Amino acid sequence: MDCIFCKIVSGEIPSSKVYEDEKVLAFKDINPMAPVHILVIPKEHISGASEINESNSAVVAHIFEVAAKLAKDMKLENGFRIVTNCGPDAGQTVNHLHFHLIGGKKLNLQLG
Ligand code: AMP
Ligand code: ZN
Repeated sequence: MDCIFCKIVSGEIPSSKVYEDEKVLAFKDINPMAPVHILVIPKEHISGASEINESNSAVVAHIFEVAAKLAKDMKLENGFRIVTNCGPDAGQTVNHLHFHLIGGKKLNLQLG
């Protein structure tokens, strides 16, 4: 499958990894919007939030556990944001489910 995040999981494309376990990978966004901008993804290919279902949703809970741990590691005690874009209206550019963990500055409230 021609998916850049699957290629990051397999190691075919390099990334700046910050966390990895058997189910998820976290790496620095190549075009950071804030001092901390990490993408947390399932290793399994799920094309986006619209494809989360009964059989694959456990990894999403795990991703939020990892994000909370990373936020502590990155000392984001003042707060952070977790965002997932789904589909063209939301500006999803990579069709492999990913959660942006953003922080390290006062964030603008732009939710639409
Ligand atoms: P979205 O627009 O929500 O689909 O987010 C995709 C994100 O992936 C963007 O913030 C990109 O900067 C980021 N991105 C794309 N290619 C790479 C890559 N090779 N390594 C790290 N981040 C990437
Ligand atoms: Zn993929």
